[in-house]
Amino acid sequence: MSYITDVIAKVKSKNPGEPEFHQAVEEVMTTLEPTVAKHPEFVRWKIYERICEPDRVVMFRVPWVDDKGEVQINKGYRVQFNNAIGPYKGGLRFHPSVNLGIIKFLGFEQVFKNSLTTEAMGGGKGGSDFDPKGKSDLEVMRFTHGFMRELFRHIGADVDVPAGDIGVGGREIGFLYGYYKKIRNEFTGVLTGRALEYGGSLIRPEATGYGAVYFGAEMLATRKKDYKGLRCLVSGKGNVSQYTIEKIVQLGGKAISLSDSTGTIIDEEGIDAAKLAFVIEMENVRRGRVKEYADQYKSAKYFPGKSVWDVVKEGGLKFDCAFPSATQNEINEEHAVAMLKNGCFLVSEGANMPSNLAAIKRYQEAGILYGPAKAANAGGVAVSGLEMAQQSARWYWTRDEVDQKLHVIMKAIHAQCLEASKAYAKEGDYLAGANIAGFLKVAKAMVYQGVV
Ligand code: NAP
Repeated sequence: MSYITDVIAKVKSKNPGEPEFHQAVEEVMTTLEPTVAKHPEFVRWKIYERICEPDRVVMFRVPWVDDKGEVQINKGYRVQFNNAIGPYKGGLRFHPSVNLGIIKFLGFEQVFKNSLTTEAMGGGKGGSDFDPKGKSDLEVMRFTHGFMRELFRHIGADVDVPAGDIGVGGREIGFLYGYYKKIRNEFTGVLTGRALEYGGSLIRPEATGYGAVYFGAEMLATRKKDYKGLRCLVSGKGNVSQYTIEKIVQLGGKAISLSDSTGTIIDEEGIDAAKLAFVIEMENVRRGRVKEYADQYKSAKYFPGKSVWDVVKEGGLKFDCAFPSATQNEINEEHAVAMLKNGCFLVSEGANMPSNLAAIKRYQEAGILYGPAKAANAGGVAVSGLEMAQQSARWYWTRDEVDQKLHVIMKAIHAQCLEASKAYAKEGDYLAGANIAGFLKVAKAMVYQGVV
């Protein structure tokens, strides 16, 4: 048994019943094997073991009162994973599937992702099993206030700065911020993803999606290609999916799909700016389901109960690029085999861990361009970092300035991944490159700081 396989085995036995956390640790640790021989100090200081153990896990009860006057109780979580290179930073997820293992996997991933952004941010994540779907605005407000009633004592602008994720958008961030401000009596950058009117940054809503497309463009450039005329599949219809589609279209590609937990639509004519405006209103204002797109646009076909990748598997849909942007493990090995068979040569992950380990293995064996989540979707947290910088400076950049900075950061992340893949693994192995480059900065900072 190698040193690394021993670390993985220990994590699995010490954290039972957390399959997503095990998967994330296995994916990262396996690729760190080449760093062991080059950095004996990391072994001596037990960095590999320490980086898999969160600094702190906070779990709490969130009681709130629904519109019928009934008391409801949800679970709340904040995992402060690692602050070796900066304050904890990472989103909050409100979704019925949320449990401790999912928040730990997301917090663990965030440590490496934030390190890659070139900014000074540690990793954390939080959330609740609360489902905002089908709730009134007032119910969402009462719940978020209940959530912040406990969370406020664990966060702060220089301590831990949460943001949005699945189920936490502009509405939820607004309610959370308002309550924090009320009980702390301070106006600070304690949450990112805020609206412009109270300290948000331009381009933050767009950042994750734009970043995933910019990362894809860098990968394409290594093969002297661009997006012009390429057929792109995007899953989800939320924040990340919307701006992924916008940027694909701006760069000359054709985005032909959308999905949610009820089904998928395929629009062979492409989702242009007008159709995207309809999607944004449907999702962010009316909070509707994806079928409404097919009711509105006759060029679209609706596949109830199917994911985008099920449609590829069952329908033989030809395409070039995949942007999985819904949730973890949406792509399994069978999906990956079908994607490759139908022409896919680029995967840029907008969602966190959307491809399972067997699917990734297939991409790598086929030698396609594979941009792993922690590199490809780091644009969101990178612009959250820019939101923090602007808040501290009391000075705001224009849309173009933030977009240019995002573009520069995504190019830098791509370059770091490529360099680390060359130095430690195989050139173009972005998975190993992202994990190793993200790890080295955090690991070195941990060595400097001693056993704490
Ligand atoms: P969002 O706005 O809430 O949208 C999520 C979308 O994915 C919705 O269309 C949702 O469909 C679908 N979805 C969620 N869970 C699903 C499930 N279990 N099965 C099928 N569909 C599901 O969330 P988001 O912010 O776009 O986040 C999407 C992904 O990107 C997540 O993996 C998140 O961690 C990652 N990410 C987000 C950011 C960011 O800045 N927002 C940054 C980095 C990574 P329903 O409406 O039917 O649930």
